Amino acid sequence: MTIDRRRLICPSLTRPMSTGDGCLARLAPLDRALEASTLHHLAVASDTWGNGVLEVTRRGNLQCRGFPCREDDTFRPVLGVLPGQAGSRFPISLDPIGLLMPQPAAVMRALYVGLHDRLRTSWLETHVAPKISLVISAGGGLGYDTLAADIQLHVTTGANACCIHVGIGRSLAPGDMRWQGMTSSPERAIDAVAALLWAIGDQGPLVRARGLPDEALPTLDLQPGHPAPTPTYAIGDTLAEPLARLWGVPCGRLDSTTVAALGDICARLDLTLWPIPERRLLIVGERARDADQALRSLGLIDDPRQPLPYIDLCAGRDCPRGGIDTHATARRLAALLTALPPTVSAHVSGCPKRCARDVPALITLSGDDRDDRLRFILNGQPGDPALWEGANHDDAWTMLTALVERVAQCPDESANVEHWQACWQALCDEAHA
Ligand code: SF4
Repeated sequence: MTIDRRRLICPSLTRPMSTGDGCLARLAPLDRALEASTLHHLAVASDTWGNGVLEVTRRGNLQCRGFPCREDDTFRPVLGVLPGQAGSRFPISLDPIGLLMPQPAAVMRALYVGLHDRLRTSWLETHVAPKISLVISAGGGLGYDTLAADIQLHVTTGANACCIHVGIGRSLAPGDMRWQGMTSSPERAIDAVAALLWAIGDQGPLVRARGLPDEALPTLDLQPGHPAPTPTYAIGDTLAEPLARLWGVPCGRLDSTTVAALGDICARLDLTLWPIPERRLLIVGERARDADQALRSLGLIDDPRQPLPYIDLCAGRDCPRGGIDTHATARRLAALLTALPPTVSAHVSGCPKRCARDVPALITLSGDDRDDRLRFILNGQPGDPALWEGANHDDAWTMLTALVERVAQCPDESANVEHWQACWQALCDEAHA
């Protein structure tokens, strides 16, 4: 087994990544729903070999941290819990809504199996950037058609035929695709994906789809066309066919007790569960509504205005380097941010390392392993210069409360960094007047 120490490769169960709080192992995107027995297995596995917390990532994957970074078989028992985890190194995300309906499911499964076979046996396995991501979406409104991806296959089905649109990622922005065309043939769609990956690989071993110039796009055997926009579902929504409910996961973290309790609920009500993008769970089954009270009592969220699912946080005081209680800090921050739309990105970190999030957030609160100071960083990451820092945390919360109240006076501007900076400047001016 190889332990990876770089962020160039997606961590997996067979190739975990070393982080500040032990090794991180991420499950490959699931190709089947989690049933009660699997949830019970995962609860035991995360407790026994990891830190006891299963994380639901922004892309809808499951991961666990805190594994000892030894080059041995630590992860093998976890591999046995779920089939399909030791396959191709290319993660292919599958939109569960399509898999729950017979017609798109057959096409999506043909694409999924065919792509894995093609990728596993070709030059691509070793010559395309390790973090290349593929998505097979069904336009089901669960966030797969807007997931940042190098290649997206968008499957829709009508009365007699299916339609597979092939797109290549233009940027990291959600759903920003260059649509190449459509076909009704899964084989032709797989040929198109392979041709696009060859073209990307030809640009260099670390090049992603967004680095492929238009003039290097291959000619594909596709009809012109691009998919129509689809409505999106939010936390708290209920899907009618099949019956399913959407729940938010606080900070994307489920401790092993909660995972086991989810298994109990699924067993009792004959439900299944999918982790889906934006740290949500899709609870599927005829009795999905009967689980509401039990899921709320586990702390899951069905209020779409609640920002807690979107706050990134690390282990904090559970890690030797953590200078603050990240859980309590995140809950207090979430209570403040309910005044704003839930799209404001936030990160709570125990120290200047970036274990929980490696891209800037609009709001970052960070502790340090050398002192008790709390740092507030605007539009940056832990370790970046702080807008405010101090050992008196009450002062920090007074300041943050005033800032958020000021920003909330123009909620449409709440994702605009310049608006935050202007509000901060106004508060400073008033304090010095
Ligand atoms: S305190 Fe958090 S960011 Fe720092 S090393 Fe530990 S887990 Fe990583």
